[in-house]
Amino acid sequence: AGPVTTVAAISRAATEGVLVKGGGYLENMAKASSLYFDKTGTLTRGEPGVVEILPEGGRSAEDLISMAAAVETGSAHPLATAILRKAGEMSSSIPEAREIVSETGRGVSGMVGEKRVEVVSSDAYGQKGLTTVEVRVDGDVWGCLCMEDEARPMATKAIRDLGAKGINDIRILSGDREPAVKRLADEVGISRWHAGCKPDEKLDLIDTCVGSGLIFVGDGVNDAPALKAADTGIAMGLRGSDVALETADIVLMNDGLEKLPFLVDLSRKMSRTIK
Ligand code: ADP
Ligand code: MG
Repeated sequence: AGPVTTVAAISRAATEGVLVKGGGYLENMAKASSLYFDKTGTLTRGEPGVVEILPEGGRSAEDLISMAAAVETGSAHPLATAILRKAGEMSSSIPEAREIVSETGRGVSGMVGEKRVEVVSSDAYGQKGLTTVEVRVDGDVWGCLCMEDEARPMATKAIRDLGAKGINDIRILSGDREPAVKRLADEVGISRWHAGCKPDEKLDLIDTCVGSGLIFVGDGVNDAPALKAADTGIAMGLRGSDVALETADIVLMNDGLEKLPFLVDLSRKMSRTIK
């Protein structure tokens, strides 16, 4: 009856908008007691907005946003989209940038004319729990941009339900700074989190736990290696990258975090039947 039950489980998942790439992935999931979440685009919507523009040293808000926007044209990060949208709303002219380099988990830099512009992660103004980037021009700080990204509406309930099902080690792994990570963690009810993680640090945290049934849930922006390394890699489907969709074992086609407790139940029912 094993194969039939596996097929039934996979069909059931499909009717819920969850793509499970094989029965083995559900069997792995049935053993899980830890689940690590990426933050941006996974627990949050991944559609941040610029909520504060804080120029320094006599610069104007327009100076700040247009310099930042210039180098963000070369980045696909959700923060880049937020900064470009804000520059558009303020009708700031965006100068041309070249030699743009993105550094995962840190920011982006490039040349605007003869000036070197950097937009990088910062914890200045972090008290508010906003994601903050600093804009530097030839090493001088021109100010900060603060962004806010809403928690997904189902996050809190999904996390509570997972806890009730015995998934007792739930964490956030994020490249963002502590104030923003802590604020989201408090909001959605997660007590363990790791902030300021570079991609290799995220992988190290996963590697320590792999083999014991670790689930990683990510949106695929920068986290395909983590999706691959975890015992069960679950990707958000709506805006997921092709790489993430290829790499993940399970895809939440509608980004519905509430499908996670459902999957835990389904996997346990299936593995009980097979045994
Ligand atoms: P997460 O792990 O939460 O998904 P990332 O690792 O993608 O976050 O990014 C971590 C941090 O790196 C961001 O909060 C931001 O401070 C900085 N960062 C990354 N990309 C950019 C960018 N294009 N522009 C500005 N800052 C960026
Ligand atoms: Mg992400």
